[in-house]
Amino acid sequence: MNKETALVVFSGGQDSTTCLFWAKQTFKQVHTLSFLYGQKHQKEVELAAAIARRADVGFDTMDISFIGSLGHNSLTDPTIAMDEQQPHGSYPNTFVPGRNLFFLSIAAVYARERGINHIVTGVSQTDFSGYPDCRDAFIKSLNVTLNLAMDEQFVVHTPLMWLDKAETWALADSLGVLDVVRNDTLTCYNGIPGDGCGHCPACKLRREGLEKYLKIKEAKESSEK
Ligand code: ZN
Repeated sequence: MNKETALVVFSGGQDSTTCLFWAKQTFKQVHTLSFLYGQKHQKEVELAAAIARRADVGFDTMDISFIGSLGHNSLTDPTIAMDEQQPHGSYPNTFVPGRNLFFLSIAAVYARERGINHIVTGVSQTDFSGYPDCRDAFIKSLNVTLNLAMDEQFVVHTPLMWLDKAETWALADSLGVLDVVRNDTLTCYNGIPGDGCGHCPACKLRREGLEKYLKIKEAKESSEK
């Protein structure tokens, strides 16, 4: 096992891009893996490739678009209008069931074939929708399962697990990549890079986090003057 290399599950969004640069600081070598899962906005994979190129890390894609056709959700089915609010008592229809289960399982097999045992994912339990496969318990459970499945010692790293969006922006800033994350990533559910459409749930969450972080930063800087 090559303990010096990490594989980042990489979508080209705010969270996984922050994780990419976190991994660059933490490990000697970083490789990234993006998934085509039938998402409407495949442009995100092109943006991910461009970010990886500029970050000087390896980049690969896997086509697992069958997962989009397994269930019904607004990220892969163009006939379903996206929930802008979380419906009471259920998940928003942006939830792609099993997505992180597939992503991380495939990433682990991919990593194993390359002698990599560190896997990095940008999931966060503090995210508004509380997708079940973003929770810490799921990740820890899957980590054990992956180790048992392949008789390996994978370590799944989740640097954003307990951070809110403002803290994720703070992390990007401390890594010196606030502008890269702000301008070059795609988080928007409507497929618009950078600051995005401004009104989908992903844009709202991202913008509110950024505004909160910039306010904290400004207050800190003015108190230091
Ligand atoms: Zn948006």
